[in-house]
Amino acid sequence: MYMMDTPLTITHILRRARNFFPNNEIVSRLADGIFRYTYKDMYERTLRLASVMSEFGVSRGDKVATLAWNDHRHLEAYFAMPVMGAIVHTVNMRLSPEHIIYILNHAEDKVLLFDESLLPIVEGVHEHLKTVKVFVMMTNKSSADLPQTSVKPLYAYEELLAGADPNFPLPDDLSENDPCGMCYTSATTGNPKGVIYTHRALFLHSMASGLADSLALSESDVVLPFVPMFHVNAWGIPYSCTMYGSKQVLPGPVPTPQTLLELYEQEKVTVSAGVPTIWLGMLQILDQFPGKYDTSSIRGLISGGAAAPRGMIKAFKERHNLTILHAYGMTETTPLALASRLKPHLEKKLTDDEKLDYAATQGLLVPGLEMKIVNEQGEVPWDGKTMGELWFRGPWIAGEYYKDERTKGTFVDGWLHTGDVATINEEGYVRIVDRTKDLVKSGGEWISSVDLENALMAHPAVLEAAVIGVPHPKWQERPLAFVVIKEAQKGKITKEEILEFITPQFAKWWIPDDVLFIDSIPKTTVGKFLKRSLREDYQNLYN
Ligand code: AMP
Repeated sequence: MYMMDTPLTITHILRRARNFFPNNEIVSRLADGIFRYTYKDMYERTLRLASVMSEFGVSRGDKVATLAWNDHRHLEAYFAMPVMGAIVHTVNMRLSPEHIIYILNHAEDKVLLFDESLLPIVEGVHEHLKTVKVFVMMTNKSSADLPQTSVKPLYAYEELLAGADPNFPLPDDLSENDPCGMCYTSATTGNPKGVIYTHRALFLHSMASGLADSLALSESDVVLPFVPMFHVNAWGIPYSCTMYGSKQVLPGPVPTPQTLLELYEQEKVTVSAGVPTIWLGMLQILDQFPGKYDTSSIRGLISGGAAAPRGMIKAFKERHNLTILHAYGMTETTPLALASRLKPHLEKKLTDDEKLDYAATQGLLVPGLEMKIVNEQGEVPWDGKTMGELWFRGPWIAGEYYKDERTKGTFVDGWLHTGDVATINEEGYVRIVDRTKDLVKSGGEWISSVDLENALMAHPAVLEAAVIGVPHPKWQERPLAFVVIKEAQKGKITKEEILEFITPQFAKWWIPDDVLFIDSIPKTTVGKFLKRSLREDYQNLYN
């Protein structure tokens, strides 16, 4: 052994925060107001929670589920399970009851921690849970004041913590390859698929998120994850921030763009993260009320989960002096895999327009990972044009789905096949053209629905746009556009004007056959466009 083989664990991250940043703040927006404490307090309460879990019989390798918004108690669960050798399994509260039941039974969770406001969901599923033996409500209330419910046995979080051991002895023999986190991702059809995260994966991912040329998270940052803590661990932000001692601002139940803007101003937030839908909503508010919100503390808004439209990036920059940091990842990649930042030599030579083109790409591969873009001919050339499927491998790329037959189709010969179609240019910038299943195949040629959506959303009257391929007797498929017009412009714009706007940018056969105005694009549980539902509704348009 040439070098020390010390394990990279979540325990290390937690202890570091207590030792080096004891007085740095964590702010949590709760239903009844703002709660503040420090990493020192968070450390102590995390140990108390680990001690409670241990008393409930949770041991190494056991899973504890959470059904919760982004707040400080959820953060404590993020650390308590890993540091005791157990696994924290975050559950998406917006899934159907059937999927929530499937997930909890499939993961074999022992305990379920849930927010008080989510009690109705738990009431709807608890009778079907085979392995959950204990329910804990995350609330300020004591057990005597808990609401009447059929969910049993039910405990009150704060009461449990008050009576618990603040010096719970943490195991010092955890392996960095031990599992410590778990998340399910929705599948196109069938049940959600589970991904297990190891200490090492989350540790290295946290370091990668701090690299100056990726997201550059650091102690100077005040970070507000809008992205829910059940969506790929809020993109790892709670772990990265704790590693660096960054102030965390957790936006609590049902946050809106408005909530975020208020918190940005009050807490001097520097970095925030979410899907493009939330940024589109925020842009509308900023446009509507110029000067109302002070966003001057923000250095970057991380946009991921779906392609950040070029027009949106431009509008934020030009109208509000706000920078969108475009990043790409998936549940299977923990998630950070690509991040768009401009190389210095490009910064010097490109025009503003060209810089925007780069900002709209998903960017460069994060150090530590390996990538291939592959089509029938093999790896694609770095020409920015040839399309292939994006593959990854590396220390924070999953190797399988948890106890799931579908592993075979996605993890092949050590590579994760993402199902995303991409190009790579001569500088190494990756551009996601589409999900394989969203590409429109017309007359034997591919049309990128993402490119069309980006162009449509660059129109000043358009709030959101989604393009799908609709089966067509002659062309196999034709693109059909769905457009949501901004409130103020409703009724003042025609579909012909919309199509004229995008026509100069595309070959004629790319232009959608029709534009349908709708009130909103259906969304997935994590806020991405749900094109599957549009496809189901419109598949017989031409037949
Ligand atoms: P999820 O596991 O739910 O986070 O979904 C991952 C998928 O979201 C990826 O496979 C991509 O299709 C999509 N995605 C994530 N980030 C981006 C991005 N920046 N641009 C385009 N698509 C993205």
